[in-house]
Amino acid sequence: MICPQCETEYRDGFTRCSDCDVDLIEPRPAVNVAETRDDVEQIATFLYLHQAELAASVLEGSDIECFLGDAFFAGVRPELAFTSGGIKLFVRAGDAERAREVLAELDESATESDTSS
Ligand SMILES: [Zn+2]
Repeated sequence: MICPQCETEYRDGFTRCSDCDVDLIEPRPAVNVAETRDDVEQIATFLYLHQAELAASVLEGSDIECFLGDAFFAGVRPELAFTSGGIKLFVRAGDAERAREVLAELDESATESDTSS
């Protein structure tokens, strides 16, 4: 059991966090999410498919599995990508933090020539 606020782990038998005075919860089970997209997190949005594909290939190069949303529309009807909010890049929730770091590095190298700050 863990505390949902401070995330302290408690042994079986405890039901409340002594620090936060809230009910403990079951930690999320380490399930195989290969068949579901429920446990994915959107980490970025791109206006253009080639940007999204670049980011996806960089993530895959870092062994982070990712999914592109709305890529179909962007490839076939680019104008629709705008109306649907761009191309969304998803990764598994557990990879989100690492994926953001990878993309942050990508951003830095991609915007190196952009000096308008
Ligand atoms: Zn707590």
